[in-house]
Amino acid sequence: MSRTHRFCRIDRKGCVHCGCRRFEQEAVIDDRLAATWELSPRERRWFDRREGHRCRDCGMSRRVRMLLWTLRRVCPGPDPEILHLNETNALGPALERMGRVTQTVHRPDRPPGARIGAAWNQDMTRLSFAEGRFDLAVHSETLEHLADYGRALAEVRRVLKPGGLQVYTVPLLHARTTRRRMRPGASGRLEPCLPPSHHGDAEFPVVWEFGGDFIRRRAASIQAVYFDNYWRNRTVFAVVEAKAG
Ligand SMILES: [Zn+2]
Repeated sequence: MSRTHRFCRIDRKGCVHCGCRRFEQEAVIDDRLAATWELSPRERRWFDRREGHRCRDCGMSRRVRMLLWTLRRVCPGPDPEILHLNETNALGPALERMGRVTQTVHRPDRPPGARIGAAWNQDMTRLSFAEGRFDLAVHSETLEHLADYGRALAEVRRVLKPGGLQVYTVPLLHARTTRRRMRPGASGRLEPCLPPSHHGDAEFPVVWEFGGDFIRRRAASIQAVYFDNYWRNRTVFAVVEAKAG
């Protein structure tokens, strides 16, 4: 086991956001996704409990509660400058209470850096923010949709202050090796090399299915990986990467 692994129980005192102790469980992994991802019944159950176990008051899924628990754990002092990339469902109000939040969305049809509602249009692999601006960055379930996720992680690191942290989640099965579902074709556009797989109907297609090697390969940047209830479900975790101070 990696020396970066840390173990916790995020729901010990109720929902980490609102304190509610009432949760509901819904099956959210559909047959098509389970088939393309080749999930075993146990793996499918793990992801259902990660995505479909929600607080009845605030609606946060277990994955988002894991992210919030970790952000609170590592938050560097009062009133941090927070970069929230690509809008994580239900996380926004909790972040607003933690510090000053800069929110981004990614709309390839709109100019980079444009204001869209309360957010800025940003491609995570080419951020328009100045170097060293943020204390804390957060993103969730984004990297698997990016051809060059390593560049995205490096870009987020660039805009962090020295000693700043990025906290994120990725869908990952530790016993597997990472594989591509899409790769750049001759034209440079991404083309499927396995049948297309989507998380939800309208979402971007999956480019990467991450395995345990993802965490090993990023060991030099990873400060900690926090797991909720590791022995029952190893898919519920958040990664903390640090920018050298
Ligand atoms: Zn709640």
